[in-house]
Formats: sequence, structure tokens, C-alpha cells
Amino acid sequence: MSEFITIQQAIEQGEGDAALRGWVYRERESNKFKFIVLRDGTNIIQTIIKKESVDEKTWADAVKLQVEASIIVKGTLKTDERAPTGVELSVKELEVVGLSDQFPITKDQSQEFLLDNRHLWLRSRFMNAIIRIRATMFRAFREYFDSEGFLEYHSPIFQATQAEGGSSLFEVKYFESKTYLAQTWQLYAEPAIFSYEKLYTIAPSFRAEKSQTSRHLTEYWHAEMEAAWAEFTDIQDWGEGVIKHMVKRVLERNLQDLQTLGRDPEKLRPTIEKDFPRMTYKEAIALLKEKFGIDIPFGKDLRTIEEDKLSSLYDTPVIVSEYPTVVKAFYMREVPGHPEVVQGCDFIAPEGYGEIIGGSARETDIEVLKRKLTDQGENPDDYSYYLDTRRYGSVPHGGFGLGMERVVSWVCGLENIKDAIPFPRTPARSTP
Ligand code: ATP
Ligand code: MG
Repeated sequence: MSEFITIQQAIEQGEGDAALRGWVYRERESNKFKFIVLRDGTNIIQTIIKKESVDEKTWADAVKLQVEASIIVKGTLKTDERAPTGVELSVKELEVVGLSDQFPITKDQSQEFLLDNRHLWLRSRFMNAIIRIRATMFRAFREYFDSEGFLEYHSPIFQATQAEGGSSLFEVKYFESKTYLAQTWQLYAEPAIFSYEKLYTIAPSFRAEKSQTSRHLTEYWHAEMEAAWAEFTDIQDWGEGVIKHMVKRVLERNLQDLQTLGRDPEKLRPTIEKDFPRMTYKEAIALLKEKFGIDIPFGKDLRTIEEDKLSSLYDTPVIVSEYPTVVKAFYMREVPGHPEVVQGCDFIAPEGYGEIIGGSARETDIEVLKRKLTDQGENPDDYSYYLDTRRYGSVPHGGFGLGMERVVSWVCGLENIKDAIPFPRTPARSTP
């Protein structure tokens, strides 16, 4: 076992001896004292080195330290209201592990500068809090579907066909031919439900998004589920259930991180306490007309601005279903007796964070699928592997895709989705 404790443990301990290791977060000195705020993966703590209490070499080392140097300190803890996290370590021994050059990130840097230096900006309290919340949410997604009897399953990233429309496909040279990066796992999950029935995954999806928005990445983590025998309402129930569970876990485990981000946890509480409002697309456009005077002719998709208006009416996500067939993907099931609308749903997050889940019951009629593919300019022969799912014991089924970074953005209250992932990829950025 290590002799070191984490800074969070030291703060909780508040007294007695402790050995800590981490990086210099802030430093200042007088001719008698050196104050170092130390950070590690868990928190920050003030440490004080008194010239009169340490030997000459230790004092000389302490004076040399710059922000981001890595050090080991041993000493005694005491509570002190003036210290940033309420506890101070009085240092008896200091070991310099790695000196630091002048750290390029100082106060008031531009977004672009921070993105160019993302490999260093990851050390900030800001990014640290987000990535910790993100980890809670990945774990919670798995916990939820494991407890619902689902199996984690994996689909290829190199794929033979499109699923979400050709315009956002990334084409990749594949030896002498070509292939595409996955936009979703769906067409490779559907064949598997005939064996395993209930499946989920969390994997990267790729979309060649043409425009730069605060909600779109070109590479994002897509949490998806697919289940045999599922009805359309089941898909909505699972979506609501997993979002509630993810938010609940963040409120249990990451209150301090939310505080670091200046995010009010009470804004999230309604999501775990209330049922999500559910409405059809037709009801949604009637509501937009009534409340905001916005006229949307049937058959037009909801745009960002309209989703934002709708979300402003609620303090939980809202589920909109039965979208016009023409705006949704070929695989969505038409509402029986109403082929102009499909059993597809979008979950729209509160506070203007936009769509966080897209789901649907899947079309089971092979002829309808072929017709829709042809209408979209696709050759159904390319989809023979997929169409086979409807040839051998087809069953009603469905699933959804949840954009992890969209949910992280909302839960953390971020301005831009780029901060919801360690190294964001956008049309304008693929480095560092
Ligand atoms: P949008 O209309 O916002 O572009 P979409 O309809 O293309 O979304 P789906 O194809 O339904 O989205 O994908 C499922 C989920 O994946 C979305 O609900 C969203 O949370 C997420 N998502 C889609 N595209 C992106 C992207 N470019 N970056 C990050 N997340 C995305
Ligand atoms: Mg899209």
C-alpha cells in the first residue's frame, strides 16, 4: 500500500500527519514563507513551507518551484478557514519530482488558445470536474442497462453502409477500396438482437457535420441500446430511466465537481423527481404556435431554435414522438394506419441543450425498407446483410442513441460541447 493519501482524503482527515503528491497549482512567497496550493486528481490543498522550520536545501528547492512542478510533501494537517479548501498542510519534507518550465496557460486565455493547448488545459480544475462527471455518467449508463438485463455488445467502426444519411458520412480509404466510419452501431446491433435480445454499447460515432455549432462534434461517444420485442413506449421508458439514473449518480457523487463548475445542482433535481412530458410532433407544433406564435408547417423538422423554445417550457427533458416520416431515417417504423408519421422520438434537454436522444421502433416490413432505401438513392442490394434481419424470424424491436457529450454539456451547464470531451474534433479542429 502507498504511504500517500489523496488531497481529498487529507481534507477529510483535517489533522495529523500526511504524505501527499501532486502538482503546484498556485505559489507565492515572502522571505519567510512559501505558500503552495497543491493539486492532484481529487482536489487542491494549501501547503505552507516555513523557512525557519526546514533545512537550507528544502528552502532553496521550494523557492525554485513554478506552477505545474510535480512534488512530494510530508507534514502535518490542520484546519484553517483561510485556506482555499479549509485545510492546510505544514510541510516538513519536500521532494521535487519534476521541475516545470514557465507554464503557458495563465489567466484570461482565449478559447482557441486553450483548445490549442488542450493537452495542458486538461489539468485545469474546470476540465478535471467535467471529466470526472463524464466518467460517472459512462458508469451510470452501464449500471442502468446491466440492471435491466442488457448485454454490452460491440459493433464495427469501419462500416459498409450509411444509416443516418450520406451527407454526414466519413469515407475512408480501405486498401484498394473504401469504407465508412460508423455514424451509429444500429445496423450492426439489429442483427444481434435475434440472438441476445437486449443490447447496449458506448462507442465513438463519426459525423462529417458541415457546420460549426455548439452541439456538434465530428467524433462523439454514442451510447446506444437495441432490444427485441420492444414496443415504442418501452424505448421511451428506457431513455427516461437511463437519463434519470445518470443524473441521480452525478448528484450523489459529483456535487463538489458541479460546484467547481458553478453549476446549480437544483437545476438537475426535477429530472430525477418528475416524469418527462411526452407529446407528439403535432402537439409540439401546436404548442409552439400557441405559446410563441411560431408557425411550423407539418412535415418540417424542428430546428434548434424551436427545440430551444420548447425546452424553455419545462425543467426536465421533454420527449417528442411521431415525427413526419419524411424527416426521419429509413429504418423508423411508420405509425400503423398513419404512414405520414413514424414511431420515432427525440428527447430534448432543458435549458436549450437540444436533442440528447434519438430513438425509434424499427420498421419490420422488408418491402417498406427497400422502398425507402431506394427513395433515398441507396441500392438495397448493399444492405442485404441488414435486410436479412427481416427475412428470418423478424420481431418488433427498437432502440435509441444518446450523445454522451450532449448530456455532459447539459448536466455540467457548459457553453460549448467541445468542453465535454478531452480532445474535441470539429470541422475546424483535429489537433492536438
Ligand atoms: P442533430 O439533429 O442534433 O444533428 P441527429 O438527429 O443527427 O441530431 P441522431 O442521428 O438521432 O442525431 O443521433 C443520436 C444522438 O447522438 C443525438 O440525439 C445526439 O445526442 C447525438 N449526436 C448526433 N450527432 C451528434 C454530433 N455531431 N455531435 C455530438 N452528438 C451528436
Ligand atoms: Mg445530425
